[in-house]
Amino acid sequence: MKYIPAKTIISGYTAKNNWFDINYNMNIYKGCCHGCIYCDSRSECYGIDNFHEVRAKDNALVLIRRELKSKRRTGVIGTGAMSDPYNPLEKEHCLTRGALELINGHGFGVSIATKSNLITRDLDILKEIQKHSPVLVKISITTYDDELCKKIEPNVAVSSKRFEAIKELTKEGIFVGILLMPVLPFLEDNEENIKGIVELAYESGAKFIYPAFGVTLRQNQRDWYYKKLDEEFKGIKEKYINCFGNNYSCYSPRAKVLWKLFKKECEGFGIFYKMEDIIAGYRKPYINSQLSFLK
Ligand code: SF4
Repeated sequence: MKYIPAKTIISGYTAKNNWFDINYNMNIYKGCCHGCIYCDSRSECYGIDNFHEVRAKDNALVLIRRELKSKRRTGVIGTGAMSDPYNPLEKEHCLTRGALELINGHGFGVSIATKSNLITRDLDILKEIQKHSPVLVKISITTYDDELCKKIEPNVAVSSKRFEAIKELTKEGIFVGILLMPVLPFLEDNEENIKGIVELAYESGAKFIYPAFGVTLRQNQRDWYYKKLDEEFKGIKEKYINCFGNNYSCYSPRAKVLWKLFKKECEGFGIFYKMEDIIAGYRKPYINSQLSFLK
């Protein structure tokens, strides 16, 4: 694995963040090799060259230890925004695992977004963190169909493996749910897919599903996505061009219908889908201890 120089790894404190109420952000790796055809992080605006090549930040664990020690406030540290913390190299190098051990040792909480079932390896540390601080796991799933999954997210565990990971984590009491985003127009925006995901989420014990019925496209990300559509899904690119032109937000033309169905299904199964309910769900048991910390 290649290493790149870094001065910091954990970003500053945010008192109130609408995105799952995460207080800090942590990126140990740069780039991602999971190959999702719609990946936004490969957009030019983020300036990540050779996006598919995973590199780790130099001395990551030394930096993380120092940064955690110097924070005046504990809080929830988010990871998984610009690269997957459970890429294949993590299996050998254990940097995300090392970071979780430090997070545990310094009394912070954690919020992890991933598409990989490798996260179950770290169940033991997540359980330790959960004894004192909030733990939130978001597994991204965009289709319930493994064959479609292999085409749109080719280098990572297929959806059924991710559902198994959810089951394993929830069985041990971890607060786990699904990021159902993007829902790709003309590929995934159908009733069968939405119903299938909600049903499997319920069977796996997922606490929540947070959806976005569409995809965002910009700059070279759009070019890459269209190239992949041409390779795997003949005729779909033309539908995007006709329907969305150069729009950044490409909402599914079926978003309204699907949203209605999704809400009904989630309510029927008792699965959270509103951000405030998800935040309350994973943070509530710790509210008193957080207040006493801030006194
Ligand atoms: S796992 Fe996330 S960061 Fe990696 S390619 Fe897929 S969308 Fe991009």
